[in-house]
Amino acid sequence: QPKCNSETGAIVSMEALSRWISPVRGFVAPGEFIPFLENNGMITSLDTYIWDAVCQTLSYWKHDHLYVVPISINVSVADIETINVPEYLQDLITKYDLSPEMLLVEITETAFSENNIIVRETIDQLHQHGFCVLMDDFGSGYSSFNILLENLVDILKIDKMFFEKPLDDKNKSIIQHIVEIAHTLNMQVLAEGIETKECLDFLKEIGCDMVQGYYYYKPMPLHDFHKLIKSRKSDVKA
Ligand code: C2E
Ligand code: MG
Ligand code: MG
Repeated sequence: QPKCNSETGAIVSMEALSRWISPVRGFVAPGEFIPFLENNGMITSLDTYIWDAVCQTLSYWKHDHLYVVPISINVSVADIETINVPEYLQDLITKYDLSPEMLLVEITETAFSENNIIVRETIDQLHQHGFCVLMDDFGSGYSSFNILLENLVDILKIDKMFFEKPLDDKNKSIIQHIVEIAHTLNMQVLAEGIETKECLDFLKEIGCDMVQGYYYYKPMPLHDFHKLIKSRKSDVKA
């Protein structure tokens, strides 16, 4: 799914999201199978497969001189507990001859409270390797404010929950404060789940840097993204 500059709508990066197309059940959303894989310990097999596929895509773009934007991957706390994620990603970057800025690492807010020390150490190492780290689903957990002030990540993703209902004054004020605090701490802010022009206009007004949501683009198969990027060449960096 593309992520856009709020002001211009230009595609600035994208997020790799898994889909299971089952011959029996048809389309199965990740919300149905990811928690199951996280519980039975198989999530790391899926995630490492996806990370490899993402790096292959980036390498293909690079070698065919296609238009390139960084791609976000989702990292579960179970991955962090099972393998050395920074080393794993570093090996992929080396294998595919990429630079670390092309891979963005998304870790959900809940991971920070679930396993404090190891998550923080992992972020430290990711930064040492040159990766950019995003805090996903910010505001969906309980310990948000303290986590924000710890200034652990480079980009804050405000959870789509805030944008599910029409924005009232209370929510607007909370979102505006989150953006201000994040900017004070030198973090960029991305709002997810943006479906309406009203939300987008409000986010522009308060200086939110990026948006991700159906207003601009829904998640799409990679070949559709290639078609899109060809038709909107002026948007993206070579
Ligand atoms: P996420 O990482 O927060 O991804 C964003 C979710 O918001 C995606 O749901 C996306 O389809 C949805 N979304 C984006 N824009 C809009 C919008 O405007 N309206 C609405 N209603 N939804 C929007 P999706 O694809 O169902 O994925 C759900 C979650 O599953 C993801 O949330 C992520 O935490 C997890 N996930 C997906 N793929 C993977 C994966 O390969 N590995 C891991 N570990 N987790 C994954
Ligand atoms: Mg994510
Ligand atoms: Mg999210």
